[in-house]
Amino acid sequence: MKYIIDLHTHSIAGGHAYSTFQENVAAAYAKGLVVYGFSEHAPAMPGGPHMFFFGNLKVLPGEFQGMRILKGCEANIMDLEGHLDLPDVLLTRMDYVIASMHIPCLKSGTAAENTDCLIRVMDNPYVQIIGHPDDSRYPLEYDRLVAAAKEKGVLLEVNNTSLSAGSVREGGRENVETYLKLCKEMKAPVILGTDSHYAPHIGDFSNAWEVLKAVDFPEELVVNTSVEKLRGYIRGV
Ligand SMILES: [Zn+2]
Ligand SMILES: [Zn+2]
Repeated sequence: MKYIIDLHTHSIAGGHAYSTFQENVAAAYAKGLVVYGFSEHAPAMPGGPHMFFFGNLKVLPGEFQGMRILKGCEANIMDLEGHLDLPDVLLTRMDYVIASMHIPCLKSGTAAENTDCLIRVMDNPYVQIIGHPDDSRYPLEYDRLVAAAKEKGVLLEVNNTSLSAGSVREGGRENVETYLKLCKEMKAPVILGTDSHYAPHIGDFSNAWEVLKAVDFPEELVVNTSVEKLRGYIRGV
């Protein structure tokens, strides 16, 4: 498989997904992933787990039959200042953190305000990935966003679920094309994430791949192809 890393996945603990951690691990291994990441929704998501869930990730294995398991979270951005819904004392114990804007947790500002917010989030030393910056319900100034991601060494995500038919996010395809073109121009790497809420979707990047192909996106700027590339962004892989 070309893309051997999937760091954006959910489980029944998140309240609106349908597989267990163990089912996810088995599916990731069966797909041939080399690194599987478990990134549950943080507590402000309705139905999400209590903070203690994230304090106890240590009980989960870090490896399955040679496949590396990373334990992180998808934190909610709670205000336009860029505050997250987990304290630093927990964030620092994660292998990685995805930070995302979600409708139940954050009221959109203007495109300039939303962009300033994500740039502030990139300055949070615990955040390595900005999740699905592709939703027209949170308009963004993509030129500034991509330039900041490149400068700060944070990965923008290409979210496979945003690109699927019936996604609740708006304008996904158009927005992803827009920032991919800018990433290509500025040589800013991206990470693909399935955002799986059901184990069989783990490692399926078919929608993302189609858009990458449409904009002729260079493979060297996709970190999912190599553990070495991922290491540049995520400590301890
Ligand atoms: Zn999300
Ligand atoms: Zn997600």
